[in-house]
Amino acid sequence: MPEGLIVKALSGYYYVKPAGAGSGETIQCRGRGVFKKKGITPLVGDRVIYEPTENGEGTVTEILPRVTELIRPPVANASLAVLLFSLREPDMNLQLLDKFLVHIENEGLDTLICLTKQDLLTDEDKADELTKQVSELYSSIGYEVIITSSRTGAGTDQVLSRLAGGISVFSGQSGVGKSSLLNAMLPGLSLETSAISLRLGRGKHTTRHVELIELGNGGYVADTPGFSQLDFLELGVERLSECFREFVPYAAECKFRGCSHLHEPGCKVLQAVEEKRIASSRYEHYVQFYEEMKDKKRRY
Ligand code: GDP
Ligand code: ZN
Repeated sequence: MPEGLIVKALSGYYYVKPAGAGSGETIQCRGRGVFKKKGITPLVGDRVIYEPTENGEGTVTEILPRVTELIRPPVANASLAVLLFSLREPDMNLQLLDKFLVHIENEGLDTLICLTKQDLLTDEDKADELTKQVSELYSSIGYEVIITSSRTGAGTDQVLSRLAGGISVFSGQSGVGKSSLLNAMLPGLSLETSAISLRLGRGKHTTRHVELIELGNGGYVADTPGFSQLDFLELGVERLSECFREFVPYAAECKFRGCSHLHEPGCKVLQAVEEKRIASSRYEHYVQFYEEMKDKKRRY
């Protein structure tokens, strides 16, 4: 029986792109009856086996094993999270950036950081300094960083080629330029973008369905706000330091097992912070998130 990829899920239907089919060719499918009984939900991004039915539609009969599975957004087999942060409008917020990174690390996805709206930086902003600082910090930790502008087209080809061959999710606060970057990468696509003033304080309209956008280079992007709910409810406090990837080699050498890296003697993370081998901004955010998590625990 034929194999395909679920590229869209909407109102109980799954739109399956047959393996090897051209772009835009999909078959509207229902899930097999037994899925419901077993509590199996096909997700966008699932590779599936389907059975064509007489009316040109089909039935998804089997879901092939998933490599990754995200809950919010509900996407299977995503391998890369593209994290967008604008340099201006809204201004760079490293604490929020680190929070997104913790969530992505926890999901086990690769990360690409895009610093967007480069064209908005002027000389008065000491533009180069900000861009350089942020991109050097995160590159030194081991993250890939691309500086982009949807206005000038800077960096867009580079992002597009990084997305080839896999499924990616675009993440970032509302208004950072996710839709604009996708539109800039894909002439012909026209996702709705809106002026930030309309959105501030109101939150983004929620996406009702998830859909994969085909990039033409074997890559797909899930067009969803992604990781929108950034609370730490699902993450145990003991996992937090693992989500700061540059802490890991030091944490392994701490004197005490289960070291919180807050005040313990013989803590190698603290020592690395003192010796400036771990950036102070990253450590400060670790402490803030740690306390936030402890607080939450107390309240629930
Ligand atoms: P999203 O909410 O992340 O999808 O953000 P949008 O793509 O809707 O963009 C939000 C606002 O920022 C819109 O007014 C865009 O025109 C603007 N914007 C997006 N990218 C850029 C950029 O590279 N440069 C400039 N100057 N403005 C941008
Ligand atoms: Zn420690």
